[in-house]
Amino acid sequence: MDTRLKARPANVADPAVTSTPADLAPLAARAAKVRDLLRVGPGFDLAAVDARATPGLPRRAVADQGGKEWSREQVAAIGTHLADQQERLFAQAKVGGARGRLLLVLQALDCGGKDGTIKRVAGAMNPLGLHIVGFGPPTKEERAHDFLWRIRRALPDPGVVGIFNRSHYEDVLAVRVRNLVPESTWRARYDLINQFEKELADDGVTIIKAMLHISYGEQRQRLLDRLNDPTKQWKFNPGDLDDRARWPDFQAAYADALALCATPAAPWYVVPADRKWYRNWAVANLLLAAFADMGLKYPAPSFDVEEQRARLTAEERAGRGKREMNSS
Ligand code: AMP
Ligand code: MG
Repeated sequence: MDTRLKARPANVADPAVTSTPADLAPLAARAAKVRDLLRVGPGFDLAAVDARATPGLPRRAVADQGGKEWSREQVAAIGTHLADQQERLFAQAKVGGARGRLLLVLQALDCGGKDGTIKRVAGAMNPLGLHIVGFGPPTKEERAHDFLWRIRRALPDPGVVGIFNRSHYEDVLAVRVRNLVPESTWRARYDLINQFEKELADDGVTIIKAMLHISYGEQRQRLLDRLNDPTKQWKFNPGDLDDRARWPDFQAAYADALALCATPAAPWYVVPADRKWYRNWAVANLLLAAFADMGLKYPAPSFDVEEQRARLTAEERAGRGKREMNSS
């Protein structure tokens, strides 16, 4: 068996040992509720979503502690399970040949918090089982192919958790708003995207699409913070202000992408994201709910454990283990 995923710094608890299904159940039950509240359903109205809202938050528990502190603790607790589930997923693919995968697609306008979410939430999982890809403007090579070409190449392998920081949705968002292709081209893409995502789901990919939704005012504040802080100025791109000037067009493009591409195979979730601590907690819940639905178990060994143990102890009795150690 591949043991790479077992490698952890000695001071970090092994979640496979410390977490039991008993503590997963209540967290998973709440995660499923949060997910239901955030899911884009028929008649969904993006304009009606309050970016400062906190759907599913257990208000009384949070009140004692304050949201930030409470969220940090909860995300850490959920993170332990995310790491545990990720390892099971990885093991099943490695040993059992399963094709299951998880793909988290993160979309947001500038300053929406995609990077922060990846750092805070995906950070709980083992880097060896993660495949994180960011999508910027397509390169010359990428432009020579259809818009899904670079996306297909970036998909996670079986057993791996993939995270897209922006995605093929830019091809019906930024591309549409900035008039980079004719309308007939981007209009045809909603169907192509739905077909593509269905194909992925049929191949074992659990797809979670999350739009991190910030308000116009919050974006202004975060852009200002970037300009005011010399350690954040590198994140500022003057082009962000051009996109900001097209705010209503982006909202309309997002509304269409959400309405036209929220499918059973690949649902959309809108996460109110003005409060970073809520956003982190909500996305952690989306991941946990997806994992819980997968019912992941460690694969049974394909060999006779007793037989292998006997071989190893026989070797020790013969004194070979000791000789090898001394000679190395
Ligand atoms: P950032 O995520 O801040 O590094 O910015 C990446 C930029 O790349 C954003 O302005 C996106 O809109 C842009 N981008 C991503 N994908 C595409 C695409 N397919 N076509 C055009 N622009 C894109
Ligand atoms: Mg940017």
